[in-house]
Amino acid sequence: MTPPELFDPATAAGHTDHPERVGFFTDTSICIGCKACEVACKEWNGIPDDGLTFTGMSYDNSIGLGADTWRHVAFIEQPRRLGHQEAGETEFRWLMASDVCKHCTHAACLDVCPTGALLRTEFGTVVVQEDVCNGCGYCVPACPYGVIDQRKDDGRVWKCTMCYDRLSAGQEPACAKTCPTDSIQFGDLAELRERADRRVRDLHDAGVTSARLYGHDPADGVGGTGAFFLLLDDPEVYGLPPDPVVTTRDLPAMWRHAAVAAATLAACVTLATLIRRR
Ligand code: SF4
Ligand code: SF4
Repeated sequence: MTPPELFDPATAAGHTDHPERVGFFTDTSICIGCKACEVACKEWNGIPDDGLTFTGMSYDNSIGLGADTWRHVAFIEQPRRLGHQEAGETEFRWLMASDVCKHCTHAACLDVCPTGALLRTEFGTVVVQEDVCNGCGYCVPACPYGVIDQRKDDGRVWKCTMCYDRLSAGQEPACAKTCPTDSIQFGDLAELRERADRRVRDLHDAGVTSARLYGHDPADGVGGTGAFFLLLDDPEVYGLPPDPVVTTRDLPAMWRHAAVAAATLAACVTLATLIRRR
């Protein structure tokens, strides 16, 4: 069955005759934790190092997404078998997942940026223009995934651009290009969404009933995401929010209530003034 279509954010942003929306389908069931995506992202985008410390958190030394880590490979150790893996004396599995900006359909970071540094591209992706960012940091708490982050030296924010420069040249993003198992798949988002549905069905038929999609549902709190995932456990296990919501969702209602309160206050003051004059 064809999955329901996502809202078209490029058209809503005023792009006419734009290309099809593109995105990432990250199938964590075939991630081998090689971190080639992290390295390719750093190399292509000229991102500085993010501290070279041994964290003791399994094989994860980059810990999370940040201004200088636009791809992050999480390593989760669990005392469980993976699929039909034969149990030895100790049951053990690693879950590995390459995380990235979700390029939300409804992106709160865009809503709060006062300078227009954050913008929706013709590909439906979300990018930051570093020469327009004034370092106010409003977008940092606005992101429901905690993706966007300021550099300590000048306060400007940085995150994955889905390699906008490569997309503009007809190339796929560096991380997807380098992934040796195709855990990171890039392409036409509608086609990726169908592919992901088929993959979940195949995994369920093979007995991996825990396989589920994350960021695939247009009815979720951000309208579905441009970067979505196949997970083998609950989103929280991977450090992902289970029920993300556009943080600016309630702003129009709040402004309406504030306007009603201000009008009521003004009416009361006017009435009190008239009564006192009598
Ligand atoms: S994940 Fe965060 S930074 Fe990325 S588009 Fe969504 S709100 Fe913006
Ligand atoms: S698309 Fe480009 S900028 Fe984004 S994570 Fe992949 S390599 Fe990095």
